[in-house]
Amino acid sequence: MNKADCKRLSFETMRAAGFNNVVGGDRETSDLGDEYGVDNVLAVNFESWSISMAPWLEEHPDTAVIDRKGAQSDRYVCTSVLLGDATAYMQDGLRAMIADRRPDWATWDFESNVMTGYLSCFCPRCLAAFREEAGIAADVALDPDTIEREHLAAWTEFMNMRMAQVAVRMKEACHSAEPPTRLQVYSGYQSDDTKWRYGVDWAMIGELQACDIASCGYGRRWENVAATHEALAGIPLIVGRLMRPYDRNSDDAVTPLTRALMLRRLMDSTGGVLVYDRMPIEGRSWQASAEVSRLAAAHEDVFAEGEFVGVGELSFAESWAGARSLGDTMIVAMMNVSTAPRSLTLTLPEGYARCTEFFTGEAATPGAEVSLELPAGDARAWVMER
Ligand SMILES: [Zn+2]
Repeated sequence: MNKADCKRLSFETMRAAGFNNVVGGDRETSDLGDEYGVDNVLAVNFESWSISMAPWLEEHPDTAVIDRKGAQSDRYVCTSVLLGDATAYMQDGLRAMIADRRPDWATWDFESNVMTGYLSCFCPRCLAAFREEAGIAADVALDPDTIEREHLAAWTEFMNMRMAQVAVRMKEACHSAEPPTRLQVYSGYQSDDTKWRYGVDWAMIGELQACDIASCGYGRRWENVAATHEALAGIPLIVGRLMRPYDRNSDDAVTPLTRALMLRRLMDSTGGVLVYDRMPIEGRSWQASAEVSRLAAAHEDVFAEGEFVGVGELSFAESWAGARSLGDTMIVAMMNVSTAPRSLTLTLPEGYARCTEFFTGEAATPGAEVSLELPAGDARAWVMER
């Protein structure tokens, strides 16, 4: 993807297959992508190639992050300062990058442990802020070890909130940039483990409406996906599918995306499907994406806003079936996400006037039981209308 001709061919394929954005970040990808309806997503963080805070630190050396071992960072600014005096500098840096690259989205991939991540500063300013926030008495000694041993839950909450507050400032910069850009945040699904391991509590992101869209990868533990939707309080959620082999230098055969896998993830999302990464995506995978994207395009509102509902006795947590419902439309999916043929049976809901299976175009009867022998990776989606 470092040659314009190659990008054009990739964008043409993406457009045909229904992919409408790519994490590229450079100006050429923004300009070429516009011709193909492919949005460019710029990855942002505080590394030297992104929003570099090093020049700020040269002028304000006493505002560096102090990590858990007491070392002073040469790259990262103390989070108390980042949320205060250094906010404008950070926002200017982000806006300058957006003006130069002209992306449609910025994405902040944050997966940093609350004890060791680059926002986790143990300087006297940050310790004082934590002491106040957590209501810890002035005579109680605080250092990284005592925090980890005795106050980890409160520290996790404190750091999760700081991360969300940084995101709010990034979002402000994106919206006020030229061209105006939207902010995506990527991390793990909502769980206690994600709060500690990756430093993100989506409920705080939701409370502060700290980003325009959220994204998570990659497994499907519905309880965590549902908790993420709930936490986000209306912010759309992209859910991910990992391509295998993960190692791009591996010669192992690719495990393709299938219609079933893509439909499963579409059904689970309110903001679309993320596939990581592009290089192992081959003909079968592009085809599966194209088929499922056609359904998404035809009923975008149902996937963006529809309720997650079970089918008959089956709850939405079931891996092979589920429905999305909005107003007078319901989409009922049956998906063989396994690697062997399966016999699957479900009962279509009653009370609908029309019912058509989207991929075959065949009519079906509301209230009828449907029994199918589906090959591995195959899927059906019944569009029911009142
Ligand atoms: Zn600090």
